[in-house]
Amino acid sequence: MILDALLARATQRLLQAGSASPRLDAEVLLCHALGVDRTWLYTWGDREPPVFERARFEALLAARALGHPVAYLTGEREFWGLRLATSSHTLIPRPDTERLVEAALAHASPPEGHLLDLGTGTGAIALAFASEQPGWSVVGIDQRPEAVSLARYNAERLAIGNVEFRVGDWFTALDHADSVERFALIVSNPPYIAADDPHLQQGDVRFEPASALIAAEEGLADLRHLASEARAYLVPGGWLLLEHGQGQGRAVRDALAAVGYDEIATLRDLGGHERVSLGRRVDS
Ligand code: GLN
Repeated sequence: MILDALLARATQRLLQAGSASPRLDAEVLLCHALGVDRTWLYTWGDREPPVFERARFEALLAARALGHPVAYLTGEREFWGLRLATSSHTLIPRPDTERLVEAALAHASPPEGHLLDLGTGTGAIALAFASEQPGWSVVGIDQRPEAVSLARYNAERLAIGNVEFRVGDWFTALDHADSVERFALIVSNPPYIAADDPHLQQGDVRFEPASALIAAEEGLADLRHLASEARAYLVPGGWLLLEHGQGQGRAVRDALAAVGYDEIATLRDLGGHERVSLGRRVDS
């Protein structure tokens, strides 16, 4: 069977299996199986694939039809124009989170500073920021050693040198004997979904680590913890920026206000939903 026909059949199968983007999924998986890019696929659609590559594609397709995320099957996802390695130990980077990167960059003056990314996962936010701000030194922290190894691998592969990854439980890796490390910007995309949210029963999230998605107190527990604890690790004038769910803006602003942040605001994502809330530590 030629590639065009194989693609049409695969698209049909993924559509029936409930994929929201069956054609794109089929193309990405076929490219991965063949080791080519999509332009190649559009040019040579009348070719027959070699037997081994064809079998590899069928295996990927079967896994995708069962719901496995494309990013886990190919082991990569693009974020902020960077090709990041992914694994099932970490959340798959999402376009919504680029809003957080944008907001961090908008608050990154002067051209030198220290940024902390808590719960860094693949390292997506830390790497995107570090690639845009070579004068800044960036620290990414994750509780999972597997995530930290992956983030380090991504930094190396992308040749981004101004970033360092550490294992830690939120702030623990920043407490030193007689001082704490302080940052001009602290950012995080923490878990913020309620355990009983029906969203967890559909799509890619079913295969992602629950520890990266689910939080107590209707999803607000980690956001509240970060809002109250981060302050001690900010330099005066520094900003905390938190990604959250669309209905959580009010609660996050309240949490920031309760511990005395100033200039509190919420930013919307491309879909028009409240997505990132921020506050500034103004006292000394
Ligand atoms: N925005 C993601 C989703 O809705 C969740 C990310 C998170 O919990 N930090 O699937």
